[in-house]
This record gives sequence, structure tokens and C-alpha cells, in this order.
Amino acid sequence: MSCIFCKIAGKEVKSSIVLESGTVMAFDDISPQAPVHVVIIPKEHITSVAGLNGIVQEMFKAAIKVAKAKGVDSSGYRMVMNSGSDAGQAVEHMHFHLIGGRKLVWPPG
Ligand code: AMP
Ligand code: ZN
Repeated sequence: MSCIFCKIAGKEVKSSIVLESGTVMAFDDISPQAPVHVVIIPKEHITSVAGLNGIVQEMFKAAIKVAKAKGVDSSGYRMVMNSGSDAGQAVEHMHFHLIGGRKLVWPPG
């Protein structure tokens, strides 16, 4: 499997792990867009929202813990999921970005 996020989930590729459970992993984005920028993935290779099962709830639970661990639970944060080419999805392994630690502009670009 050539998927970079599967390799991160399998620890073949090193990442800065923020949180790990049996089903979900959260790690610091390699190209952070804000002081806090964490990627949250299902360990299972799900390409996009079309492949969803019960994992989303696990991902949201992880996001709440990540926000606390990164100290942005009070100041606020944004969770973004890019889906498909117009949104700029670069890695075809479903993931949320959790971004915070600065004032975020709206609407996003
Ligand atoms: P997207 O454009 O929504 O598919 O986002 C993919 C994200 O994964 C980008 O923000 C990348 O910076 C990030 N990324 C890609 N490779 C790695 C890696 N090896 N470790 C951490 N983050 C990565
Ligand atoms: Zn994958």
C-alpha cells in the first residue's frame, strides 16, 4: 500500500503522534498552516466520506482530546475535511485537519 497515511498509521513513516487509539491516529501536520495543525485519520484506509462506517464518531472523540492536548479547546479551533480535487485533497485517505492557535479567517480560500 503506497498511501502515506497508511504508512504513518503503521509506523513505517515517522510522525509526531498526538493521540492514538485502536482505530484512530492524530499527528502534527508536516506543513502546519497555524500554530496548531493536527491531522486526524482512521487507521483503516478509507478514501473519502463515501466509505464511511462508524469511524467518524471515533475521529470526533479524538479531535476533542487533541484540542485539549494542544491547549486550543478554550481559544477555539477549526476542523476541516477536504474532499476531492476542487477542495485540494492531496492524500486520498480520509482525514480531518484540526487547526488553531491563531485567529482564523472566514471564509477559507
Ligand atoms: P489534504 O490536502 O487535505 O489531503 O491534506 C493532506 C495534509 O497532509 C497536508 O496538510 C500535508 O501537509 C499533510 N501531510 C502529508 N504528508 C505528511 C506527513 N508525512 N506527515 C504529516 N503530515 C503530512
Ligand atoms: Zn491509506
